[in-house]
Amino acid sequence: MEKTFIPVTKPYIPNRKILDRYIDEVWERQWFTNNGPLLQEYETQLGKALGTERPFVVGNGTIALQIALKALGITGEVITTPFSYVATTSSIVWEGMTPVFVDIDDTLNIDPKQIEASITEKTSAILATHCFGNACDIEAIDAIAKKHGLKVIYDASHCYGTTYKGESIFNFGDVSTLSLHATKLVHSIEGGAIFCSDEKVMEQIRLMRNFGHDGPEKFTGVGINGKNSEMHAAVGLTVLKDAQKILDSRKEISLKYNELLMGTDIQTPVIDPNCVSNYSYYPVVFKNEEVALQVKAKLEEENIQPRRYFYPLLSELDYVHTSNDMSRSKHVSSSILCLPIFYNMPDDVQLKIVEIVKQNS
Ligand SMILES: *Cc1c(COP(=O)(O)O)cnc(C)c1O
Repeated sequence: MEKTFIPVTKPYIPNRKILDRYIDEVWERQWFTNNGPLLQEYETQLGKALGTERPFVVGNGTIALQIALKALGITGEVITTPFSYVATTSSIVWEGMTPVFVDIDDTLNIDPKQIEASITEKTSAILATHCFGNACDIEAIDAIAKKHGLKVIYDASHCYGTTYKGESIFNFGDVSTLSLHATKLVHSIEGGAIFCSDEKVMEQIRLMRNFGHDGPEKFTGVGINGKNSEMHAAVGLTVLKDAQKILDSRKEISLKYNELLMGTDIQTPVIDPNCVSNYSYYPVVFKNEEVALQVKAKLEEENIQPRRYFYPLLSELDYVHTSNDMSRSKHVSSSILCLPIFYNMPDDVQLKIVEIVKQNS
């Protein structure tokens, strides 16, 4: 019998009736992009849902990072984590800056205790990822930044719904960014958002997102096309209505994984005590790479797809250099698997995954 394919995640499928109503509106207006009414509505609703200033919705989570770096006027060296999606590092390099990697701790986020040793006279910012929806030690990072006059950008791509000290995680740092890619917890197929509350920086973001247009015949500074469309906003608004359902489902599945894996020597997620995670991913760290690869192979035999998030380590990309010790990241990156988690993943599928994981580790 053909075994049903179980992917690491599935995109949330928006309700077609609601989506179609939005699309009818777009067709009636014949206004497809350029800061249209649905895009503006999406920004308002995202801000409301998260309890933040109204964000800037942009084309994707990568351009969100690039605009954040530019709008804050970052130059020179940027301290960052080696354990994230490639866009965290590539956006630094693409914008002509140098990433300086600092190892992670048990939360899989950058270890604040190791940051200061890497600050030089060229350092102007820290770009840290809240990995898998779990907060960095924001308190410690912000204190270091303040002491050394550095800007802080949080790549909060994974963090729709995550809170820190009872507040939206997007309220921290000089700028925080979100990805709204189809594989993320909430999405607009492609999309991203930039969160900021400093008026001057917000003005830069507004200009930079739209080619530097300051009215139809005036340009202020260099900009890029960071816009998103009415069609993406239509999908985004439709998915947003179900955000709580998606969060609840992820939480239930994650807590069940925790329970089923208790008492094994598999490392389940370690959440910062100030953070309420959105449970967007389910990463597990095995004893070593050999065990992780064995579990992966056995799951694949059953047509189940775990993913090596994040492997390879970003400090090993061929366009970067590092002399810092990355031993913790190296161990995690080689021994980690993200287990399947998606909206309404069936119980029996989860039980089968856990059984295979336990038998082979
Ligand atoms: C998904 C992701 C991005 C990139 O977002 P896109 O919307 O795909 O451009 C950046 N950083 C992290 C940590 C991500 O997971």
